[in-house]
Amino acid sequence: MEEGARSCLLRFRHRLEQDIKPSYLMDHMISDGVINVDEEERIRTQPTRKDQAVALLELLLRKDNRAYISFYNALVKETYDDLANLLYDDLPQISANAHKSSSDGWTPHVQMVLSEGGVPQRPVVFVSRPELLNRVRERLYRLQKEPGWVTVFGMAGSGKSVLAAEAVRHQGIIEECFPGGVHWLSIGQLDKPDLLVKIQSLCFRLEQSLDSQSLHRPPNSLDEAKERLRFLMLRRYPRSLLILDDIWDSTVLKVFDIQCRILLTTRNRSLTDSVSGAKYEVEVASGLDENKGLEILALYTKTNPQGLPEEARSIVRECKGSPLVVSLIGALLKEKPNRWRYYLCQLQQKQFKRIRKSSSYDYDALDQAMAASIEVLPDEHQELYKDLTVLEKDIKIPAKVLSILWDLEPEEVEDILEEFVNKSLLFVDSHNKPYLYYLHDLQLDFLVEQNRTQLEVDLHTKVVRQYQQHYRDDPPTSGDEECLYWIRFLTYHMARANLSQELYSLMFSLDWVSIKAQIMGPAHLINDYVEYGPILDKEFQEFLSLNGHQLEQRPFPDVVQLALSQPPTSEVYRQALLQAQDRASKG
Ligand code: ADP
Repeated sequence: MEEGARSCLLRFRHRLEQDIKPSYLMDHMISDGVINVDEEERIRTQPTRKDQAVALLELLLRKDNRAYISFYNALVKETYDDLANLLYDDLPQISANAHKSSSDGWTPHVQMVLSEGGVPQRPVVFVSRPELLNRVRERLYRLQKEPGWVTVFGMAGSGKSVLAAEAVRHQGIIEECFPGGVHWLSIGQLDKPDLLVKIQSLCFRLEQSLDSQSLHRPPNSLDEAKERLRFLMLRRYPRSLLILDDIWDSTVLKVFDIQCRILLTTRNRSLTDSVSGAKYEVEVASGLDENKGLEILALYTKTNPQGLPEEARSIVRECKGSPLVVSLIGALLKEKPNRWRYYLCQLQQKQFKRIRKSSSYDYDALDQAMAASIEVLPDEHQELYKDLTVLEKDIKIPAKVLSILWDLEPEEVEDILEEFVNKSLLFVDSHNKPYLYYLHDLQLDFLVEQNRTQLEVDLHTKVVRQYQQHYRDDPPTSGDEECLYWIRFLTYHMARANLSQELYSLMFSLDWVSIKAQIMGPAHLINDYVEYGPILDKEFQEFLSLNGHQLEQRPFPDVVQLALSQPPTSEVYRQALLQAQDRASKG
């Protein structure tokens, strides 16, 4: 029943209880189909008229708008005109417009169902994501006929909870799919006792709205809670939707594996593997597109998007449109509108701790939201994840590279990567064979921030050492994804590890020059020399600048021959000679 009608009944409850004769009124209400004979019987057996009136109002308060209207009509028919007048102003407009959608599909009825079910309201600043929204709604419609699970998954702060709440803010969804109502439960990371408390209060909430007299003992174990919930959902709330927000653990889901309809949000895509029934999923893209990001900043700062300062675009780009980050910064700018440049710099310098919440988000700052995802990994996997700090932005790597870095079997690596992907800690490009993995910029920034200075040097050193050990006898030359990675990034890792001597020898070796030039073309090679030039031999650079164009030719020139044309006193010549002799001795 909508708020106005309920409030009116509560306000005039005593007047009504004093005056009405329930038995007459109930006849009309039965013929309208808003109460049934059992309910009538229970009221009729109350000892006095007053008791009956109390019971009828109690029942009415748990019913919907139609019951209010039917009660009003019954009062009119039984000529309780004064009482009917009291109720008149708050008559819900069922036939006129209460059930008619406003442009985006909500009605007072929808609003009431959502607030009764504890579904959170929209954030203060809200932008629509119509495509995603339709995808979630389309999955929810599939639960119309049968129970099942819809998983909304994505990384921290990508807007999953906001999306889940928005998906049910829709007349069709509420009335056609879930006429039994929707019930929101915020889960988060919790242990078993806390989970039990959550389900106890859910059961209490569900039982209360059926019958305020009921004094069921709360279930006192998870098994008992599951049975109680199963009974409630099956018998008392058929065709209703449970929304479980922010689930981390599949053991939590098992408690809800009771053949009902569930929408859940999580960072972990594979949670529903362990439960039964129909399953659907929607991935929430981690970022908003640029215009939506700008729209959020504009709304917070009450500017129009065209009037935003130039830093606005950079802020959105810097965090790749993360709804959480854009909103956090928007909220800060609302308070301190002169700080565009300052917050952009904070973001660029990864000063996540300064980007503190002023919204209702669960985590104080972005770094905590990120850390929370990592902390739930087993300890040994946390260490492995930390190794990803050494990746370059926007670079995708095959599992085999990590198999060398971690010194693990490729299959084991694939399993671990799948876990990271499922927990939204890593992304996979599955269009490529082999699959390529990469981090979101914010994740990489977070890792780098966490593992600054020495640790970073150590991590890069580890990469180099693992490479050297693996390719001791046989350097990579094949041109497959793995080999490409090493040829492209080995110099980078050596430089970051401060291994100048080794970097020097590598770039100075003709083998390396010829492999890199053959596989990647001379541009990459020359780029290395520009980048790490200061530590390199002058003659070598000269050799390259003179012969660079030849390295572009196909078939690939004989680098040793080229080098032999250098002055015999040079290091290049010396190496070339060694290689020529080596060739000769091998025949
Ligand atoms: P998740 O559940 O994926 O961790 P939330 O849905 O809680 O993320 O969103 C995190 C924050 O991002 C919200 O508190 C809100 O400030 C912002 N946000 C998310 N979606 C939107 C949106 N559509 N419009 C505006 N802000 C949003």
